[in-house]
Amino acid sequence: MTQTAPTTPPRAADEQKRFASLDPRTGEVIAHHSVHGETEVRAAVERARVAAAFWDELGFDGRKARLDAWRKVLVKRLDEFQALICAETGKSADDARTELALVIDHLHWAAKQAPKVLGKRRVSPGMLMYNHSASLEYRPLGVVGVIGPWNYPAFTPMGSIAYALAAGNAVVFKPSEFTPGVGVFLEDTFAEVVPEYPVLQVVTGFGETGAALCGAGVDKLAFTGSTPTGKKVMAACAATLTPVLVECGGKDPLIVAEDADVAAAAEGAVWGGIFNSGQTCAGVERVYVADAVYDQFVKLVVDKAKKLRPGGEPDADFGPITMPKQVDVIQSHVADALDKGGKALVGGLESIRPPYVEPIVLVDVPDDSTAVTDETFGPTLVVTRVADADEAVRKANSLAYGLGATVYSRNRGEEIAAKLRCGMVSINSVLAYASVPGLPFGGVGESGFGRIHGEDGLREFTYAHSVTRKKFGGLLNPMTYERSGRTMRHVLRLVRVLYGR
Ligand code: NDP
Repeated sequence: MTQTAPTTPPRAADEQKRFASLDPRTGEVIAHHSVHGETEVRAAVERARVAAAFWDELGFDGRKARLDAWRKVLVKRLDEFQALICAETGKSADDARTELALVIDHLHWAAKQAPKVLGKRRVSPGMLMYNHSASLEYRPLGVVGVIGPWNYPAFTPMGSIAYALAAGNAVVFKPSEFTPGVGVFLEDTFAEVVPEYPVLQVVTGFGETGAALCGAGVDKLAFTGSTPTGKKVMAACAATLTPVLVECGGKDPLIVAEDADVAAAAEGAVWGGIFNSGQTCAGVERVYVADAVYDQFVKLVVDKAKKLRPGGEPDADFGPITMPKQVDVIQSHVADALDKGGKALVGGLESIRPPYVEPIVLVDVPDDSTAVTDETFGPTLVVTRVADADEAVRKANSLAYGLGATVYSRNRGEEIAAKLRCGMVSINSVLAYASVPGLPFGGVGESGFGRIHGEDGLREFTYAHSVTRKKFGGLLNPMTYERSGRTMRHVLRLVRVLYGR
């Protein structure tokens, strides 16, 4: 493990209105990026509006050809892209490779499925409107603003960017101040295959740049980040009635039922809690284990977690905490859990050595501890003994968050999953839903609303356009001042016959 704490300079703009992107492993400057203000952001949205018309006119086939070409560029330059993600986030090479594999799979799916999901299709007109034909298509909104976080700087925003582009929109993307280079890499590689117009643009800077994007006249704003910022984004967008998609944080539970494969559950819990240094919106933070298998499960988790080490080398098990101030949150959650009677079976407060945090496994933590109620975003697991899976479900559902969940059970997985109030559940594996492009991704409650991925994720960046066409004069038309009493009597008789019994 590399012990050199980075000398993190204050993240402020210099006189030239630039800021540095830093390697969290070393504190070294990777590159400088512009701090785009309101004027630049507005100009980007105006350019995007022209580009959107060009992109829309390409049609599904033309867009698919470009998006497929982009996918191939990303595959070709995968090593370079992976190295950039590692440099800006500090994550391990394999965590970055996993992230990019998912990006590419989703990009392929969105481009391929867009015509089927969004293209014009006939709709049954129903019995009363038998003399009309009806059709529906989903049209692009125009310009979509995307604001993304740093923890999955490619995968998370691409859940909006790839789907919005496939649906025919131009995109203006504001990456996190910690990962601006990843945003610029996406913009540059996209411009290689779409050189005509700036269909995908990136604006860089701090929170103010994101706030400017909310008010810059975009047709929808797709935000992924923390719940407090999500609320600010929603409030800012309300001023201009700009629709929002809000993907926020979570405190996801993993349930180990009495009939679980305990070894698999322990493997899943340790991976789900610790990979990417625990900085995963839908990572495992709370584990509820049925009494009958608790001791066996805890022993396995402790054995596995003790072997993992963070570090700056590419083959480390996991990397540093990317955002320096998150270390204080992890520290306060662990301290609160221990103060309230919790025990650390792996690590403890001494495991927190910025920028690294070693694995911490806590047990006997009271339900009102912040380690149970709030997003920790570190390589920590809180394991709680419960009587059975039913008590686990009650505890899992007890928070305002509702992003994802995991269930380990040989026979009751579906039954337990159905009782969980959240957007996604993986049974007998961790986070599998995020890897299935056809499945929508998103939460409920404080985890936000709206969906990326899947058919819902494509429709999220469109508006429905419905058309009817009268094919021939019907016998009964109540929607005219020419209607007679006889027409109304027939219509009501029909309604009674069709729907009254
Ligand atoms: P933040 O909420 O701090 O920031 C998210 C983005 O919003 C950044 O680009 C940030 O810019 C920008 N921003 C900050 N202030 C404003 C503002 N007033 N108006 C508009 N934009 C603003 O989140 P993090 O980057 O720290 O990401 C971690 C969080 O993201 C966690 O809570 C995690 O759970 C969540 N997340 C949710 C996912 C999901 O799909 N549900 C997926 C991945 C992460 P800047 O960085 O420059 O301040």
